Amino acid sequence: MPKQSFSGLRLEGTLSTDSQEIAYAAADFGGIISRTPLAVARAHSPRDVRSVLRFAAEHGLSVTPRGQGHSSMGQAQAVSGIVLDLSDLNTVHDISSDRVVVDAGTTWAALLAATLQHGLTPRVLTDYLGTSVGGTLSVGGIGGTTHRYGVQTDNVLSLDVVTGDGEFRTCSPTESPDLFNAVLAGFGRCGVIVRATIPLIAAPERVRRIKVYYPTAAELRSQQRKLLRERRFDFLQGQILPSDAGWVHMLDVSAFYTPPAEPDDATLVDDIGYDPARDKIEDLSYWEFATRLDETVTYLETTGEWRAPHPWPNLFLPDRTTDTFVDQIMHGLSHSDLGASGLILTYPVSTDVLTTPLFRVPDAPTIFLVAALRFASSESIAEQMVRSNRRWFDSAVGLGGTSYPVGAIPFTEDDWRNHLGQAHQSFAEAEARYDPSEVLNRRLKLTP
Ligand SMILES: Cc1cc2nc3c(=O)[nH]c(=O)nc-3n(C[C@H](O)[C@H](O)[C@H](O)COP(=O)(O)OP(=O)(O)OC[C@H]3O[C@@H](n4cnc5c(N)ncnc54)[C@H](O)[C@@H]3O)c2cc1C
Repeated sequence: MPKQSFSGLRLEGTLSTDSQEIAYAAADFGGIISRTPLAVARAHSPRDVRSVLRFAAEHGLSVTPRGQGHSSMGQAQAVSGIVLDLSDLNTVHDISSDRVVVDAGTTWAALLAATLQHGLTPRVLTDYLGTSVGGTLSVGGIGGTTHRYGVQTDNVLSLDVVTGDGEFRTCSPTESPDLFNAVLAGFGRCGVIVRATIPLIAAPERVRRIKVYYPTAAELRSQQRKLLRERRFDFLQGQILPSDAGWVHMLDVSAFYTPPAEPDDATLVDDIGYDPARDKIEDLSYWEFATRLDETVTYLETTGEWRAPHPWPNLFLPDRTTDTFVDQIMHGLSHSDLGASGLILTYPVSTDVLTTPLFRVPDAPTIFLVAALRFASSESIAEQMVRSNRRWFDSAVGLGGTSYPVGAIPFTEDDWRNHLGQAHQSFAEAEARYDPSEVLNRRLKLTP
């Protein structure tokens, strides 16, 4: 096959076939699969995005947008195509009293730092803020305030997109809603998000964070259900963690506040089995709280686990079958099945706050996220974990569950179709309308 020439592609940013850039774009956080692109384009403007998409359409190439590449299994990689890296498209534009206009390549950390200067915050933040705005809006974006506000894709006022046909378009719930609904949580298959307008609320100054430990996962979930119903906390999560004595089950909840108002600790911990000798209450600034994972990242960098393979499966289960599912996966699970710093993240969400059509969750009033943060010490262990993830997925589907496809669960075309369910038809129509030459991530395969 003749070597593809990119000489006709002029960008304000860069286009590179240099081996270092290719290696960068062939890797992701998951470290499980690596697909080699033909070239890496770094967009410095929305015009660059349009030029790349038009060039690709003319030359029969595929384009995969990439934010920060924190996907687990090749979601932002391209085979024999162009990786369109958006990380340099990262200006925070206007911040007004209730919204911000921001470029898609901006990280949530940079966005939050900018909005906090105005005493404002997005309603929903992911646990780790090193992800990009365009990246999480292309998948969903769940966090500890999701039980209140939905996922990040439920909190978008409008998007500027370059669609696969190389056209600039603005979309919102009222302007081209078909495109809006096909781009949010659409894994970059219809268009590239270049800019988003995101609603803001007053940021709390401080956070009272409470961790309570329970002997069983069932007890943790029972407390989480109660707190979800009561809406006692602003932030609601939980974890199953390895310990010398087996597994511990930690409720992780927070109340946000701004002095002089202050939450009453006794009221916050009333009737949730809080034991001052065992459990923990801490007081943090909102920024310290939002960036709480930074310390863990530094630790994982020192142990080498930040660069090791991360076969992280993310699943949603209906409340009614979550206990059965968690019992199934915990049965015989050893600490080494998660890896040295592994844990299982689990928390409930009421689905009435979820409005994004492509963010597929079980049909139930309450669902639980069950996400395993697995760390593999070798490629063969990563392969075993990925196989086990697939078994977990099959079992979850049998119990009415769905996958959150940012993770490392092998997904075939049929799985995508089943996953999209009733949204499949309108999504396929939007793909045909906005990306007629099939330039973008059209065959997004999650296979090792
Ligand atoms: C440490 C860590 C913690 C995490 N915590 C959370 C969490 O709390 N909640 C949560 O929901 N997720 C979480 N994730 C998962 C994360 O949100 C997703 O992997 C997300 O996609 C990462 O953003 P990114 O910018 O790295 O996207 P990438 O991996 O670069 O891309 C993700 C997908 O979106 C597409 N895409 C990227 N940018 C654009 C764009 N501008 N336009 C169109 N398509 C685009 C890509 O082609 C790809 O399919 C976490 C991941 C890590 C590594």
